[in-house]
Amino acid sequence: MDGAVGADHRVSVEPRPVEGASATPIEPLRPVFKPYLGPEVRRAADAAFDAGWVSIGKLTYQFEDELSRYLGLEQAGRHLLAMSSGTAALHCACLLAGAGPGDEVICPSFTYVACHQAITATGADVVFCDIDRGLGADPESIRSLIGPRTKAIMAVHYAGLPCRIDEIRSIGREHGLRVIEDAAHAFGTRHNGSAIGATGDLVCFSFGPVKLITALEGGALVTPREDEVQIVRELRLLGVDIDRALRTNNRMWDYDVHRQGFRYHLGSIPSSIGMAQLAMADTFIENRRRYCREMSDAFRGIDGITVPDTDFEDIGSFIYFVLLEDADVRSRLVEHMRLRGVATGIHFQGAHEYTFYAGSRRGDLTVTDEMAARQLTLPLYSHMDDDTLGRVIESVTSFFA
Ligand SMILES: *Cc1c(COP(=O)(O)O)cnc(C)c1O
Repeated sequence: MDGAVGADHRVSVEPRPVEGASATPIEPLRPVFKPYLGPEVRRAADAAFDAGWVSIGKLTYQFEDELSRYLGLEQAGRHLLAMSSGTAALHCACLLAGAGPGDEVICPSFTYVACHQAITATGADVVFCDIDRGLGADPESIRSLIGPRTKAIMAVHYAGLPCRIDEIRSIGREHGLRVIEDAAHAFGTRHNGSAIGATGDLVCFSFGPVKLITALEGGALVTPREDEVQIVRELRLLGVDIDRALRTNNRMWDYDVHRQGFRYHLGSIPSSIGMAQLAMADTFIENRRRYCREMSDAFRGIDGITVPDTDFEDIGSFIYFVLLEDADVRSRLVEHMRLRGVATGIHFQGAHEYTFYAGSRRGDLTVTDEMAARQLTLPLYSHMDDDTLGRVIESVTSFFA
């Protein structure tokens, strides 16, 4: 057998030799994602262990403060709460928007299913809107889907590129709807001179394993409303007002419960790791910007490739993607790259294709279907050596040569 195949047959880690190529073994596939987990990160985990308190605590609040400072939230009058995941943040954002059984939340089909699950977890129905050619929610599609049951709009800053959020916010204002921004891809992106998160309504970040900064698992919810801070503190900890107990008298058995809550808090060890990552965020963003530019420069002239429509100047890039002509070209390119030792990904297929969401109301999804067939994610890391970047570029350009 040529090529190690794991228990899961879909995970082929060793590419087969290219026909006619030299017999030298090809190294393992360059993965699409590769979180930076260097010595700073390990030291941060150790420090949290040494602090002797692993649950939500001082390090969690410190992480919140540092994130707020990094994003400029204090001056912007915004409040940030650390969460156990981006999905947890999205779920709580939907609850803050008042979504529940009988309500609808409009959201692009073209996003991670975490968005749709967060909506339906409240009992509300997801309504799929289309995207525009920038791959963000299409404001016109959103507008056309607003009905008497609509409670909120969810929009995604896909690949770190700001969606047409100003238009979407004015639609929200016009109809009295809250706008939830999924900024899982957009940590560090700036829009109109402010960090994503420092403007608008509810904004959710993810610090999951492969995100631009990672807490291994984690997320954050930003709200402009002071009165929602305490609600989120309770939502994230089983309805228990433990934060107040921790901050004041340490009488942690002395609390009341006022609402349905969840186990969505962020512990001290992920918080400490998150802080170590945050300290490196500017470098991560700068590096990724350089790699994205190099890839776009190499691909821009090629007939059959469309590169992201940005110079990456204000962008915190989570993924780098290209658009191919169609699904057939894409699958041939995927195979071509795999044989050259480069893994690829697809972000995303339309969620309206999933069995669970087959019955969900939707608008015209022409652009979603087109982009879901044409999109291809290439490897992008916070630190990419020349050999890997060169190999990624060559594996694409050689296909079109
Ligand atoms: C990663 C991601 C999420 C969910 O974040 P988790 O921390 O994994 O729960 C939500 N939306 C998008 C677009 C994501 O990429």
